[in-house]
Amino acid sequence: MAAKREKSFQFVVIGGGIAGVTCVEELFTQVPSADVALVTAGPHIKAVTNFRQVSRTVEEFDVEERPSRVLQEKFPALTVIHSAVKALHARDHSVETEDGGVFGYEKLCICSGGRPKLLIQDNPYVVGIRDTDSAQEFQKRLSKARRIVVVGNGGIALELVYEVEGCEVIWAVKDKAVGNTFFDAGAAQFLIPSLEAAKPQEAALCKRPRYTTEEPGGVQTFTADRNSHKHGGWTNPGSALGPDWHQGIVLRGAEQVTRRVSVEYQCEVEKICTPEELLPSAEQTLKPDTVGSWPVYIQLTNGKAFGCDVIVSAIGVVPNTHPFLPGNSFALAEDGGLQVNDHMLTSEPDVYAAGDVCTACWEASPLWHQMRLWTQARQMGCYAARCMAAGVLSKAVELDFCFELFSHQTRFFNYKVVLSGGRMVGAVLIGETDLEETFENLILNQMDLTPYGEELLNPNIDIEDYFD
Ligand code: FAD
Repeated sequence: MAAKREKSFQFVVIGGGIAGVTCVEELFTQVPSADVALVTAGPHIKAVTNFRQVSRTVEEFDVEERPSRVLQEKFPALTVIHSAVKALHARDHSVETEDGGVFGYEKLCICSGGRPKLLIQDNPYVVGIRDTDSAQEFQKRLSKARRIVVVGNGGIALELVYEVEGCEVIWAVKDKAVGNTFFDAGAAQFLIPSLEAAKPQEAALCKRPRYTTEEPGGVQTFTADRNSHKHGGWTNPGSALGPDWHQGIVLRGAEQVTRRVSVEYQCEVEKICTPEELLPSAEQTLKPDTVGSWPVYIQLTNGKAFGCDVIVSAIGVVPNTHPFLPGNSFALAEDGGLQVNDHMLTSEPDVYAAGDVCTACWEASPLWHQMRLWTQARQMGCYAARCMAAGVLSKAVELDFCFELFSHQTRFFNYKVVLSGGRMVGAVLIGETDLEETFENLILNQMDLTPYGEELLNPNIDIEDYFD
C-alpha cells in the first residue's frame, strides 16, 4: 500500500539529465501554467546551451552541469525535489522518494538514465565511467597507472584511448574494426593512424564550456543519502557525462610516454583475476618481465593475457529501471530498457519514459535507430513532453521528424564526425566536409545515386552545387 501523499502535481519528471531537463522545459513551453515537479537524485541538472540546428536533423549543442536553482529561476512554477525515487505505485499514480516523500502525478516521465555495464561486479580494479564522480575516480586511478586495459568499442572507449597519455593502453574490441558502433571498417582505417600520431595542440583546447561542479554551498541541499541505495556496486548516479567530459580532467598516467595504444581485435574478456589466480597457460602469453607485478590480470578470448593497473569497462549501459519495477507491470525490452511506443508511453498508463532508460519499440523508420546518446536523450525528452501535454491541450501529436533519420554530430580522434542515416543507407562524414546537409537530403530523397558511383566522394567535384 502506498504511503500518504505529500502533494500532487499535474506532471512529474524523474531525472535531472538531458532527457528530464528538456522534458521539463518543453512542458512549460507547451503548457505555460503547468504544475511540474522534477525529482532527481543528483545535486545538479544538465542544461542544453548554444543549441544550433545544423540541418534538418543534425543538431549541435553544448551541455552544462548546473545547480537546479537555475532551472527554478527560469520556471518559478517548477518544484525540484532532491531525492532519489525508491518506488513507483503506478496504479495509485504516485512516487515515493528515499527521504520519505510521496508525490502524486497525473502524468509521469521517467528519465533516470543508465549506469555502466560492468564486466564484473565489486572488483576494485574494474571501473566504469558515467558521471562526474566516476570520471574523477578514474582520473585518480589513472594518475598512478603504467598500463590500463580498455574493453569496449563505443563512444567512451574511442574517446579514452585517444585522450589518455602517460600510460600504455591495451584496447580490447570484440569486432574486426574499431568504432564499429558508429562507423564501418573503412572509416576506422582512416582514423587509426591518429592514434599513432602525436596529439595536435588544438586537441587540448575545448571549444565548449567545461562542466562546472559547484561546491555544495552553491547548490540547493541534496537530501538523499547517495550511499544508501547501491545497485550492483553502483550508487544512484548523477547525470551521464557527454561530449568534452574529459576536458575538465587530466587523463595522464604515471609514465613519461605520450600515447601508446595497441588494439586487440575480435576478442572478449575470458577472465579477470588476481596474480595468484592467473593460469600457468595464460602466464606464458604475458611479457616475461610483467608476470606477478600487476594488481590485476585480464585474459582475453584470443588467448592473450595482460597485467594492468586498471580495467575500464566501456561496454555500454544498463537502463536505471530498478526502483520502478516492483509492484508494476512494465514491459521491458531485451536490453533492459522500459519499452516505449511512438508516444513515448510505457506499458503503464500515464507513465512515459525518455533517454537512456527507455527502449524505442515503435516501428522505426528504416533510416533511424536508437543509440543511447545525448542527441536522442534531448529529442526524446522534448517529444515526450509534447505527448504528455497533448492530453491537456486536446491535440494530436505525430512522431517527431527527428525520428525519421538517425543523425549525430560528435568528435572522434579530434575529427569532427557527422553520422547520418541508417546502417545500410547512411554516411559518415569525417572532417570539415560541409556536406552534412547535402548528404542528408540525398538519404531522405532516396535518390538513385548509382550513376555517380565513387565520384560522389571525389574532393574535386563540388557535389553540394551539383545536387542543389
Ligand atoms: P542521465 O544523463 O544519466 O540522467 C539521469 C538522471 O536521473 C540523473 O540526473 C540522475 O541523478 C537521475 N536519477 C537516476 N536514478 C534516479 C532515481 N531513482 N530517482 C531520481 N533520479 C534518478 N553522448 C553523446 O551524444 N555524445 C558523447 O560524446 C557522449 N559521451 C559520453 C561520455 C561518457 C563518459 C558517458 C558516460 C556518456 C556519454 N554520452 C555521450 C551518452 C550521454 O551522456 C547519455 O546518452 C545521456 O546523457 C543520457 O541522458 P539521460 O537524461 O537519459 O540520462
